[in-house]
Amino acid sequence: MNGKHKQPKTLQDAVIFYANPDNCLDYMVDIRWPDGVACPTCGRTDVVFLANQRKWQCKSVHAKRQFSAKVGTIFEDSPIPLEKWLVAVWMLSNCRNGVSSYEIGRTIGVTQKSAWFMMHRVRLAMQRGSFMKMGGNGGEIEVDETFIGGKARNMHKATRARRIPFPGKKDDKTIAFGILERGKEIRTMVIKDRTRDTVLPLIREHVQTGTSVYTDDMSGYRSMSLTDEFFHGVVDHANKYVDGRIHTNGLENFWSLLKRGISGTYVAVEPFHLFRYLDEQSFRYNSRGTKKNPTSEHKRFDLAMSGIVGKRLTYAGLTGKEDGTAF
Ligand SMILES: [Zn+2]
Repeated sequence: MNGKHKQPKTLQDAVIFYANPDNCLDYMVDIRWPDGVACPTCGRTDVVFLANQRKWQCKSVHAKRQFSAKVGTIFEDSPIPLEKWLVAVWMLSNCRNGVSSYEIGRTIGVTQKSAWFMMHRVRLAMQRGSFMKMGGNGGEIEVDETFIGGKARNMHKATRARRIPFPGKKDDKTIAFGILERGKEIRTMVIKDRTRDTVLPLIREHVQTGTSVYTDDMSGYRSMSLTDEFFHGVVDHANKYVDGRIHTNGLENFWSLLKRGISGTYVAVEPFHLFRYLDEQSFRYNSRGTKKNPTSEHKRFDLAMSGIVGKRLTYAGLTGKEDGTAF
C-alpha cells in the first residue's frame, strides 16, 4: 500500500471502513493497478469509469470490455460484494487461533456455508510458494511431522476416495510435515508417509546444504546422518540436556496451535482440505510480528491481499462436485 488512503487499525475499524464500497474500490485499485487502471483483456489504460456500476469500460470493442475490480482475482465470479470479502480477509489474516465460518458469517452477514467457501478462497490467497532455500548463514532448521484427523472411517467409500489425498493408505490420519527456520519462516505440506524417500527429498528441496537440521529419531530421518549434506542433530528425548539447541520445540508449538484451531474452531477438517488449513496457519506464523520487526493488523491484511491476483478456486475445484451455488 502506498499510504494514499486511510487505513483501519482494528477489526471494528475495518468493518466500518470497508462498509463503504468506494473505500473498497480505492483499495482494490491501489493493489491491482498501482500505475492506473488497465483493461485486463487488451491492456489499454484510457478506460472509462462507469461510476454507477463501479466498473470500467475499455474503448476497444472486444468481449468482456466491461470489467470490475474483481476480475482476475480470487473474488472473480463471486456475487458477494467486496465490502464483505475484505472484512473476511481481515478476519482470517488476524485471528491468531483461526476463526470459524459461523463467526465470519455472522460478522459480514452471509450464511455459514457461503462463509466456509469464502474462507477457502482466502486461504488460497494466503498460499505461498517460495523457491528460495531456507537455512545457510548459521540458520538452524527444525523438521517434524504430525498426524491429524481420523474422521474418514465413517465416510461413505466413494466420498472417502474423493476426499482423501492418498487413497490406499491404511489409516485415515493425514500427516502434516513442517520445516521451520528459527526466527524466520515455516513451510508446511501434507505428505503421504514418513519414509526416507518422502522426507529427505523435501528437506533437500527446501534447505540449503550445510545447514544444521534438527529432527527426532523417526526412522525416515535416520539416514540423514549418513549423508554429509546437513549437520543433523537428533533430539534425544531420554536425555534432553545433551545439547540445548537440538530440539523441535518451535514446530511442536506450531502443531499444537494448529490442532487447537482445528479441533476448537473448525469442528471437523476433512483430510482433503488439511493443506488449506496448513496454508492459513503458516501464513499467520510467517506474518507474525517480532520485537525487532513489529507488524499490524493492516500489514497482515495487505500481505494476504497481495496474494489475491491471478488465482481461482471454483466450487468444483474445492469439493470435487459440479453442482452448487456460486460463492
Ligand atoms: Zn480492452
